[in-house]
Amino acid sequence: MKPARLIHHAVRTVDEAVAALSAYAPEGGRILAGGQSLVPMMAFRLAQPAHLIDINGIGGIGEVACDRHTLRIPAGVRHAAFHRRVVDGPLGTLLSTVARHIAHLPIRTRGTFCGSLANADPASEWCVVLVALDGMVVARSMAGERIFPANAFFRSIMTTALRENEMLVEARLPLPAPGTRFGFDECSRRAGDYAQSMTLAAYRLVDGRMTDTRVAVGGVEGHPRRLAVVEAALDGEAPTLQTFARGAEAAGAVIDAMEDNQVPASLRRDLVRATTRRALAVAA
Ligand code: FAD
Repeated sequence: MKPARLIHHAVRTVDEAVAALSAYAPEGGRILAGGQSLVPMMAFRLAQPAHLIDINGIGGIGEVACDRHTLRIPAGVRHAAFHRRVVDGPLGTLLSTVARHIAHLPIRTRGTFCGSLANADPASEWCVVLVALDGMVVARSMAGERIFPANAFFRSIMTTALRENEMLVEARLPLPAPGTRFGFDECSRRAGDYAQSMTLAAYRLVDGRMTDTRVAVGGVEGHPRRLAVVEAALDGEAPTLQTFARGAEAAGAVIDAMEDNQVPASLRRDLVRATTRRALAVAA
């Protein structure tokens, strides 16, 4: 099917994009970033935006920037930008590993990091990364900027705190403390499919004990979240297979698993146990 009729606005600056969004959002205007979620929805007429504000021609928003504390990811940065390590150390390696789990190469060359956050699919890898690392998003409208910590940004399935007249202009990831170890694992039916469960685990080892432990899951509830109960149970423990198995059991027990026609909740809990155990082991 072809999309419904629309007016295409090829904006050249973020200010123009925000002004256009302010003017056209009340008439159903939407940002077009990589188009890898929006365009298929338009083709099926599940989305019928009357105006598309196309940010692909905006200069200077396609590269990440990094200072001593923060990796900044503007709205034009594609998934494929992370195939190479965009920052030294374990974070660069983690992002590069995670990027390869997102869809297929053609989708990764167009889809954007910020588009994934705005779209808020429960099984989006970047949403899990943002939550696991306590990242932030910067939203801009004609009224100014609002900054959201990750845990206040995602509300439910494909729903965020963004207002219809706000553009997500940048995501920010704090650089991890030295010595942080990361492990990521996901389960999907075929390579490139959306995950049915994924876990990102992170911790440091201090005197052989896990410290600052983070366990975030995606694809299992309406939006990604850190599992505080699991993190607390693992903190202070030695990183052994037995510890990881206990953490995995706890993860399976605390999630409120989504159910669909392919994955009943009981199977999803099993998948969370598996991805959590493996992510903790990869980090070790
Ligand atoms: P678009 O499709 O352009 O936009 C998506 C939505 O976000 C729209 O509502 C749009 O208005 C809004 N939006 C986009 N950017 C902004 C912004 N800066 N500010 C405000 N609103 C904005 N994703 C995964 O994470 N994991 C997968 O495994 C995966 N598999 C896929 C498999 C297939 C076959 C396909 C087609 C897609 C898959 N995707 C997957 C989705 C893909 O990653 C998309 O790129 C991503 O979800 C959206 O990014 P985009 O830049 O393409 O956004």
